[in-house]
Amino acid sequence: MAMKPTLQRPGGLPASASTSVVTPIMPSVVYASDTPDSLDDQYEGRSSGYTYAREGHPNADVLGQRIDLLEGCEDGVVTGSGMAAVSAVLLGLTKAGDHVVGGNQLYGRSLRMMTEDLPRLGIATSLADPTDVASVRAALRPETKMVVIEVVSNPTLRIADIDGIAELCREAGVLLVVDNTFTTPAAIKPFEHGADIVIHSITKLLAGHSDVTLGWVGAKDPELTQRMRVFAVTTGMTPSPYECWLAERGLMTFQLRFDRAQATAERLGAHLAGRQGVTRVLYPTRPDHPDAARAQGLLKGQGGNMLSFEIEGGRAAANAFAHAADGIAFAPTLGDVGTTLSHPASSSHRALTPEGRSAIGISEGFFRVSVGLEEPEALMATFDAGLEAAGQI
Ligand SMILES: *Cc1c(COP(=O)(O)O)cnc(C)c1O
Repeated sequence: MAMKPTLQRPGGLPASASTSVVTPIMPSVVYASDTPDSLDDQYEGRSSGYTYAREGHPNADVLGQRIDLLEGCEDGVVTGSGMAAVSAVLLGLTKAGDHVVGGNQLYGRSLRMMTEDLPRLGIATSLADPTDVASVRAALRPETKMVVIEVVSNPTLRIADIDGIAELCREAGVLLVVDNTFTTPAAIKPFEHGADIVIHSITKLLAGHSDVTLGWVGAKDPELTQRMRVFAVTTGMTPSPYECWLAERGLMTFQLRFDRAQATAERLGAHLAGRQGVTRVLYPTRPDHPDAARAQGLLKGQGGNMLSFEIEGGRAAANAFAHAADGIAFAPTLGDVGTTLSHPASSSHRALTPEGRSAIGISEGFFRVSVGLEEPEALMATFDAGLEAAGQI
C-alpha cells in the first residue's frame, strides 16, 4: 500500500483522555506560532508561550518552580551549571567600577572568579571572613555592590554570621548573595535571613545522583531576577531539558535523602570522634564545633550531610586511609547518593602553600566526607578499615 505523503514533522502526540503523571521531556529547540500577530502577542506579553529553547523551555520552568518553592522565592532562573548561576550574579549584576566582597572560603571556582575574572573586567574584589561581621564591615567600600557568602564553608565547615552580615548589608544598601549549595533549603532558607539573592549548584544535593550539572539563582526583587535571566539567555547559560528532567526526578527524593544522610553523618561523626588516630572531627551540631552556638541558632539541629575529620600520620596515613576505605569514592564532589571522600590538600586546596592551608586548619591528614545513603554500620566499618590501615603506617 502506498504511503500517504506526509509533512516532515508530525502534528503532535496522539490524543489521550487521561494524562501523564510524569513531566514529559521537551527537547524542542523551537516552538511554532500560528501567525506573526500571535508572535507579537507572545513577545509583548499578551499571551505566554515558548519561542526558542535558549530563552526558556518547559523542563527548566518545571524544575525552577520546584526550587522556588523550596527557597521561598518566585521565578528563579535555572542555569546550565552552578557556576553559570554564580556568573549570572557576579557578571550579570555588576559593571566596571563596582566592588564585590566575597567570603574567604568560597567554593574554589567562585573564588577564582572573584580573584581573576572580575578584576580583569574592572570590578574590584575583596575577601573577608564571613564568620566575623567586623571583617566584612572592614571590607566594604562606597562602591561595594554585593557581599557573597556560603553559610557553611568548605571544607572546614565554619558557620557564617549570616544574620549579622544581612543587617550590615541592609544598613549599607549592599546586596547579600548566599550560595546555599552546601546547606540546602532543608537546613536553612537564606531569604528568611535577609539574603537578596540565593544560588544553588543543583548538581550536588538537590539533584543528588551525580548525573546532572545544573544551577539555579533567584532574587527577592523580581527586577534583579529578570536582569539575571536576560544575561543568562544572552550568554547561553541554557540548561538541557534532559538534565532538568533528571534533576526534577532527583528532587522528588531530596528531603528523604537529606534526612537519611544527615542522620548517618551525625552518627559517623560521633563514631570517628571516639577512634584512635582521629585528631579532630568537624560537624556543625557537635558541641566541640568552633561555631557551635551559631550553628545551633541558624541550622536548628540540621547539621547536614557534610563532615570533616583529621587523622594523624600526615600524607602517608592519608594515602593508606583512602586506599583502605574501599567502596567509598575518593572523588571531589558532594551530595551524591554514595558517600564520597575528598582530600583538600591534594585537590580543592592544592594551590595554597602548606602554611596557607594550615592557617585555615587543613593538614595532610584532613579529609572531607559527603555522607550518602549507605547502611550506617557498613559505612562505619569501612571508615574503621581505613583508620586501621592508617594506624599501621
Ligand atoms: C559545586 C559548587 C558550585 C558550582 O556548581 P557546578 O554545578 O559544579 O558548576 C558552586 N558553589 C558551591 C558551594 C558548590 O559546591
